[in-house]
Amino acid sequence: MLSVGCRVVRGPDWVWGEQDGGEGHCGTLFQVGRPGSKQSPDKTVVVIWDTGRETNYRVGYNNAYDLRLLDNAPAGVKHPNIICDSCKRSQGIVGMRFKCCSCFDFDLCFHCYMSDKHDLNHIFQRFDTPHSVGVELTARKGSTKLNYYGTFIGAKVVRGSHWEWNDQDGGEGKTGRVLDVRGWDNETGRSVVNVTWTSGFSNIYRMGHKGRVDLTCVEPALGGTYYCDHLPVLGRDMEVYENRGEGVSSHLTFSVGDKVKVVVDVDTLRRLQEGHGGWNPRMVECVGATGQVHRVTDRGDIRVCYDGNMRWTLNPAALAKLHSFSVNDVVMVDYDVIRVKHLQKGHGEWIDPMVSILGKLGKVTKIYSDGDLRVTVDGQTWTLNPLSVQLWAGSTAELENIMESHPSSTAQDADSTSTSRLAKLIT
Ligand SMILES: [Zn+2]
Ligand SMILES: [Zn+2]
Repeated sequence: MLSVGCRVVRGPDWVWGEQDGGEGHCGTLFQVGRPGSKQSPDKTVVVIWDTGRETNYRVGYNNAYDLRLLDNAPAGVKHPNIICDSCKRSQGIVGMRFKCCSCFDFDLCFHCYMSDKHDLNHIFQRFDTPHSVGVELTARKGSTKLNYYGTFIGAKVVRGSHWEWNDQDGGEGKTGRVLDVRGWDNETGRSVVNVTWTSGFSNIYRMGHKGRVDLTCVEPALGGTYYCDHLPVLGRDMEVYENRGEGVSSHLTFSVGDKVKVVVDVDTLRRLQEGHGGWNPRMVECVGATGQVHRVTDRGDIRVCYDGNMRWTLNPAALAKLHSFSVNDVVMVDYDVIRVKHLQKGHGEWIDPMVSILGKLGKVTKIYSDGDLRVTVDGQTWTLNPLSVQLWAGSTAELENIMESHPSSTAQDADSTSTSRLAKLIT
């Protein structure tokens, strides 16, 4: 499972010295490589280490694996119907799930498994996502156990790669302390941290949420311990699919009528189809195409209808749901200029002044029959690919208030409005 936001540590083929800050230091996956890219080709990923360095690594490239997945909760993975039998968090397990092979119906979350809850002689199966096949591990007793470090409680931080919060930190170079690591609503887990700056101001910042990293750690803190061999090797032991964040969501339940897309490559799809409706060479045609869910089977596979009345039963792990929008929805335009440029091809096209609307809030004024959106941002209207925007999670009425209370604001003012809005929302 290659998703932006995943927290990683160095893996079996690591040959990159102390780029990560030392063994056990954490980083965040913030870009998944794609075929044809020179900077970050297929089977590589880009990681921002908590200590600040940003580099790409092999996740199958030349058959080498540089990374292990430490935690996929920040990428939004959860098992909502499975409660950890140790910490009993009622919203279900976030991140990887560990199921005891000796006891009846006994599950642990990542934290409880790694902090030695339950009998250390019992063997567990690891489920990376709700759709994964369980991987049998060895007993924890006798396995190598390491510490992990990074932007955890007590760490000293400064503003980092994706900082866009003006001088909330008191100015560039000012330090803060991490008070807490938590999730962002129900969307992602262990993905944001609460920081108090030397000025006394505190707020929540992204450490993995949507693949964003707001902070660099100048004094890493101990996060916990992990059984290194019990973690998946990134790109090897796990289902490979991409979740590029905004616009496309995975790990969601699918309902009849949902618009969906196959978001894995052909080889991966073929593999995922085993035991989930099977493989047919004509399925190649549906990779990347938009289809509609017309039935969910008893075992949770998805029947999808494509143009020309083609229907396939597909593994939900291969699918992502496309958000559907309504007129008057408040949306946030994607931050990533490269991604938006790419998405706009054939969907309203890209023109350079659009740089000014990236990361901003706008309102949907019209939906075209092909799904493209007319969106008003700062008084100007644009045609956007629905994948270039994300439905804004706040209440629409509340946001209307905010947007209308600054009717004549300049672009810069509007920017600080949406920024302070963001800061307020995530408090
Ligand atoms: Zn637990
Ligand atoms: Zn047990």
